[in-house]
Amino acid sequence: TGTGAQKDRVLTVEEWLQKWETGATAFHKEQGHPLLQKHLDLLLNGRSGLRIFFPLCGKAVDMKWLADMGHSVVGVDVSEQALKEFFADQSLPYSEESVPGISGAKKLQSTSGNICLYCCSIYDLSSAVVGEFDGVWDRGALVAVNPCDRQRYVNLMISLMAKNSSYLLVTVLYDPNKHKGPPFYVPESEVKSLFG
Ligand code: SAH
Repeated sequence: TGTGAQKDRVLTVEEWLQKWETGATAFHKEQGHPLLQKHLDLLLNGRSGLRIFFPLCGKAVDMKWLADMGHSVVGVDVSEQALKEFFADQSLPYSEESVPGISGAKKLQSTSGNICLYCCSIYDLSSAVVGEFDGVWDRGALVAVNPCDRQRYVNLMISLMAKNSSYLLVTVLYDPNKHKGPPFYVPESEVKSLFG
């Protein structure tokens, strides 16, 4: 019962790649996220030229929106298809290179240089590779990671946050007995205990 109904559920990387291959990507929105627009000031906190991280980014159009505002955007996703579709959809030229220190990973960077997307598992990243971020936009990320990996995910995110950084998190509220997820139900109390 409760969130227990979902706690043992595991999606493999292959299952995510398959969602992209078959177009089972209803989570993707063609329009910018209304909550990002509404709470942008909280993320920026009066600052400009930030480094903003999109964990489990998919092809979120908000990455372009923030980059166009002068911020530097870094994303990560296991699906190379998703990342390439992002650049194609946004008509952005990009270059591709390997990532020293992460075997098999690729870094796709917009030619303009302000959008850098890593194709690898988020768990392969560390501040040694991607540096620290001034802001994090977490939509479809904490709620998408396997419930058993939540603390590991959050610890990693905390390790990537610069001093005075801000973190905007979107969760979904529903009866976890009625849908198996993802997105998974992460109650407010758990968000508090995860992030401390
Ligand atoms: N944040 C995006 C995508 C949400 S769906 C949006 O809101 O539209 C979750 C995404 O996480 C998928 O694109 C999937 O390919 C990716 N993903 C799943 N597990 C991952 C992992 N361990 N590391 C990196 N990306 C992962």
